[in-house]
Amino acid sequence: MLLDNHGRKINYLRLAVTDRCNLRCFYCMPEEGLQWLSRKELMTYEEMLQMCSLLVKMGIEKIRITGGEPFVRKDIMQFLTALSELEGLNELTITTNGVLTAPHVQDLKKIGVKSVNLSLDTLDAGRFFNITRRDEFLDVMRTLDELLKYGIEVKINAVVMDGKNTEDIIPLVELTKDLPVSVRFIEEMPFNGDGHVYGGLQWDYVRILEEISGRYPGIKKLVDPQYSTSYNYQVPGHKGSVGIIAAYSRTFCGTCNRVRITPTGELKTCLYDDGVMNIKDLLRQGINEDALNKALLSAFGKRAKDGWAAERSRVEHTGVHESMATIGG
Ligand code: SAM
Ligand code: SF4
Repeated sequence: MLLDNHGRKINYLRLAVTDRCNLRCFYCMPEEGLQWLSRKELMTYEEMLQMCSLLVKMGIEKIRITGGEPFVRKDIMQFLTALSELEGLNELTITTNGVLTAPHVQDLKKIGVKSVNLSLDTLDAGRFFNITRRDEFLDVMRTLDELLKYGIEVKINAVVMDGKNTEDIIPLVELTKDLPVSVRFIEEMPFNGDGHVYGGLQWDYVRILEEISGRYPGIKKLVDPQYSTSYNYQVPGHKGSVGIIAAYSRTFCGTCNRVRITPTGELKTCLYDDGVMNIKDLLRQGINEDALNKALLSAFGKRAKDGWAAERSRVEHTGVHESMATIGG
């Protein structure tokens, strides 16, 4: 079992396979996109497999593939298939914006993907365009239909933004009435690649919950699964559930079981740190498995206590200007 220096179990890796994306979500990146990484800077699939294979041997049980948008990277299904065959990996999941995902859902089911996080901040096509700056709402809805059709568990991620989509909170909760989905409202974080000035958090988890319980006073608290980052609820009689993720307020650090690896191979032991070692560089220098194992253990042994401490330890102290697409949300 992998433990960090605060006694927290580490068994979950979030791997961002690209920084590129076919949407331009307001809260994630500027309209013109990011300065995309060159092919040389990206980890190859072989490097990612080698790294994941070692991490699984060390104690990682669950891998989430994210980005950028995973499905814009060429041959992603081949990579996912290879990853799904890693011995010792219990769970392979994906976070996607759903634009290109629908045609792959059947194959995802085949390789054993049981749950997918689908990002969908609004149920209104006009507001979808305002937020993502692209007219792809129907393709995302098609992905939702396909996921449900194949019995893949769906978590819908909705970032709550003042003046952008707060009118969607109740309709999104309403979606849980007939659909067995978990709709999770996420506090907006400052990781927008300077796509807009982050004016501070307007809708924290308390305000989001007040909005929901104002409309559904009978809403019930559910028991949160172990390591859950969301506070979970259910409206009595609804098939699905509702979660709230205090991503900015950082209320879940005490039980955090996850580490991240960016598309360039940078290991982040906290969402709010700026990277603690580069695995791709070590692999390209020819490091052997034993030495990489030791380097990883040393990084896990120096993990920040929480997101506030990690933010303070950043080399660049002038605020967080990264995009979630280069971090891997
Ligand atoms: N492109 C995929 C998608 O959108 O699902 C995967 C990558 S995206 C960076 C992963 C998650 O991060 C999405 O659910 C997105 O809503 C969330 N995210 C991005 N920027 C964020 C921000 N500034 N605050 C909170 N969540 C954010
Ligand atoms: Fe793309 Fe996902 Fe960022 Fe939106 S949140 S711009 S879909 S990477």
